[in-house]
Amino acid sequence: MAEGRDHIIVVGAGAAGLMAARELTSAGRQVTLLEARDRCGGRIHPLAEDVFGYRADAGAEFIHGEAPVTYRLLKEAGLSAQPIEGERWHVDNGAFTRNDPADRQMERLHQVLATLKEDLTVTALLDRHFSGAEFAALRDSVLGMVQGYDAADPDRASVFALREEWMGGERGGQARIVGGYGVLLDHLVAECRARGVSFAFQSVVTAIESVDGGVTVHCRDGRTHRGDTVILAVPLPLLQSIALPPSMRGQVAATADIGFGNVIKLLLRFGRRWWTTMQGHDLSDMLFILSDAEVPVWWTQHPSDHAVLTGWLAGPPTDAFQALDETMLIETGLAALAGIFDKPVTVLRQDLLAAHVTDWGKDPFARGAYSYATLATRRAQDVLTRWDGGPVLISGEALYQGRDMGTVEAALASGLATAHRILAR
Ligand SMILES: Cc1cc2nc3c(=O)[nH]c(=O)nc-3n(C[C@H](O)[C@H](O)[C@H](O)COP(=O)(O)OP(=O)(O)OC[C@H]3O[C@@H](n4cnc5c(N)ncnc54)[C@H](O)[C@@H]3O)c2cc1C
Repeated sequence: MAEGRDHIIVVGAGAAGLMAARELTSAGRQVTLLEARDRCGGRIHPLAEDVFGYRADAGAEFIHGEAPVTYRLLKEAGLSAQPIEGERWHVDNGAFTRNDPADRQMERLHQVLATLKEDLTVTALLDRHFSGAEFAALRDSVLGMVQGYDAADPDRASVFALREEWMGGERGGQARIVGGYGVLLDHLVAECRARGVSFAFQSVVTAIESVDGGVTVHCRDGRTHRGDTVILAVPLPLLQSIALPPSMRGQVAATADIGFGNVIKLLLRFGRRWWTTMQGHDLSDMLFILSDAEVPVWWTQHPSDHAVLTGWLAGPPTDAFQALDETMLIETGLAALAGIFDKPVTVLRQDLLAAHVTDWGKDPFARGAYSYATLATRRAQDVLTRWDGGPVLISGEALYQGRDMGTVEAALASGLATAHRILAR
């Protein structure tokens, strides 16, 4: 049992929790970080270097857009990011092409988006404006983006929230951290330790009780922690699993209005980069492959020459794979690649050196991959971040009100903003 004045308990050692903890200890507060797992990072999950030949990321991998908080951290840590480069290939009826089959209709989509006065779901947009047979490729492409990129359910996803992403492209582009997200995580954890944050792992928080102007935090194993303020920085679906003071129950009900999608991420390491030529095309600088295979999206580590392919299955289509265990998912991935590249699956299997699969929906401390905006999300975020000076604040990527919710940047920025609210009190 830890006690002290201005003692802040942060629940969840992901990007948001670590960022908040660092900021608060830098300002002289006493911070205890309670984490359910035996590691920091949450949905940032670097794997051991020996498995894939580098610290492959089983969770977040790219920096999206301008990401000012992320880039600031990288700079102070002396780390760098490399803009992603390489070609995007589409597999259209078995043929490899650089052209997106929907490209010709994108202009029409942009025209409709530019004139929309009221928000609507992606499904409603497609039904209302693009139901004709001539728009089949556009519908596939839009659904591919919404499900594959945003891990979102088109029946719930807000067009307004996505329109800037679709029309504006990614300001600042996409990049990878040199060394992977693991090096950024190492920096944050080292900073927290150096400033005296006390970590308690395998601490699954089950309840937060408001007592005598402070809080008592209860863990599943019976341990309790006493503090003045709690920052709850757990993934959105986990908020409902923690018993909160009665005054907050209505507030937490707003989580239902924020979408939270799933991702199954497969990492396959082969003996060699066997995919560099196909149908007479030179694919040696290929980054992404978009196909209609069961695992539709794949990417390479280009420009690095690691012989690793990453498979990506996201959004509602992941439901169909719930019954598959890790071995079956790897087989599904290999079969998808065999189909895309017209190779015998046995050949690919023989060349496979290592594989790692995470179905994030089955992870008990994530219960999915990341959030997306529905028509009611902005209002729900207002409710969830409302703070009357009481002992519990909520933080995390899903609470971020900027453009790129669902990202590491969103989590870092949310953690920072939550810490500043406490410091400004
Ligand atoms: C497969 C995948 C790929 C992604 N790709 C990208 C990408 O390329 N770029 C990008 O920017 N973002 C990406 N993301 C999203 C990004 O990883 C998240 O938005 C971000 O890491 C979330 O940080 P967080 O601190 O809000 O939550 P988390 O990282 O989930 O941290 C929350 C912590 O709370 C802990 N916890 C949960 N319940 C309890 C409890 N009861 N008691 C104590 N602790 C608890 C968890 O174990 C976890 O450590 C990806 C996510 C996934 C899953």
